[in-house]
Amino acid sequence: MKFLQIGLIFIALLFSAVSHAARIPSYSLKLTERVRVRVSEAMTKVHVRGFDLKFYESPPYSPPFQSDRLFYQASRLTEWEVQCRPNEVILIQPIKHLQISLKGPLLIESEAGFLSLQNHPYRDFLRIYPNATSCEVVNEVDLEKYLDGLVNAEFSSRWSEEAIASQIIAARTYALYQMRQARAKSKKNGSSHFDLDSTIKDQVYDGAIREDYRASRAVERTRGMILMIYEKANWVPLKAFYHSSCGGQTELPQNVWGQTIPGFKHTVRCPFCKNSPTFSWDLSLGADEIRAAVSHGLQEDGLMKAFPRSYTTIFRSWMIADLRVSEWDLSGRAEKIVLQLKDAENVFRLPISASRFRNWIGTARMRSTSFEIVKNPWGQEKTWIIQGRGNGHGVGMCQWGAKVMGEKGYKMAEILHYYYPDAVLKKLW
Ligand SMILES: [Zn+2]
Repeated sequence: MKFLQIGLIFIALLFSAVSHAARIPSYSLKLTERVRVRVSEAMTKVHVRGFDLKFYESPPYSPPFQSDRLFYQASRLTEWEVQCRPNEVILIQPIKHLQISLKGPLLIESEAGFLSLQNHPYRDFLRIYPNATSCEVVNEVDLEKYLDGLVNAEFSSRWSEEAIASQIIAARTYALYQMRQARAKSKKNGSSHFDLDSTIKDQVYDGAIREDYRASRAVERTRGMILMIYEKANWVPLKAFYHSSCGGQTELPQNVWGQTIPGFKHTVRCPFCKNSPTFSWDLSLGADEIRAAVSHGLQEDGLMKAFPRSYTTIFRSWMIADLRVSEWDLSGRAEKIVLQLKDAENVFRLPISASRFRNWIGTARMRSTSFEIVKNPWGQEKTWIIQGRGNGHGVGMCQWGAKVMGEKGYKMAEILHYYYPDAVLKKLW
């Protein structure tokens, strides 16, 4: 582990107003243990509150292993406003009439271990980056403490102990994989200043507000446990995907994202999620809605270029004659669908990957690609009914299935081996 000594330098000119600041003790960070979670992309004003806050200036958009410079230390409880402009962070303390302008990102730490961001508690550190018109906020937090907060955001600490332990190990493994990826990237191009998003893009996290005793106990029990795969003569973390419910069979990454991901060689049949609320679902899509979604999706994904120019009118004015699944993959999910458009003389067949179609319609409405399409026989307008199963991409662990396995008495290692048959469980710390 690499320890960094943070230089303790006052910027005397900037802080004549705060010359009463106490002598600041030396300070060290174990940076490699902290995960960097982007908790907001675009806040116009950031409000931070905390006890004995310390403020550091970071080198602009630095990789994480460079020195931060302590420039101010507040005592007791103080509340601050932070505003961002291009290449500028402005720190404001209204009661003390203090306004400090910085070029680099601003790092804030509380001696107490908790900070409040927009009245929401976060542990360890907040680093604030200036965007063109807003602030981007990254919570730098101990990986195990990040998991304490994650449990009740992504799953529930009320689930059985074995199920919750499996979920935590998957989440820790996914986070470690993303940390390695982001830091490997930042060595090359210096651009990645966070490891994970706090949304469904990665793992849902909203700080320390949902931590509870059961969550912390389950995290502690699995401390340092990671799903590993052997790749290019090295043990590395698996990209441990998980999803809400698989609908009966898990999926391979190449069928969702078009590329293989190491450690996913097998799909598994899952009899455990059949009582999940989303095991089966229906969605009705009208012709206008399909045309609008496909036309917008083709533009957004840059696929319109592949068609002759005259084709742009097809999606505005032609009739939709048919919509059907044309190919299925080995897990039984739709792989390709075909949209048939026609006018008085011509018929035009447009093949679309089912995964792409799901994104265009919206992943929250069209919950998975495990579906069939039937034409609505009673609709006044042309409508199609999508009859689907499961919720999410289907890769890796089925969360609902893991929950049920836990209730049935399966152990954590059995649950993980069931959904990640190509990975090995190891304790790294
Ligand atoms: Zn399942």
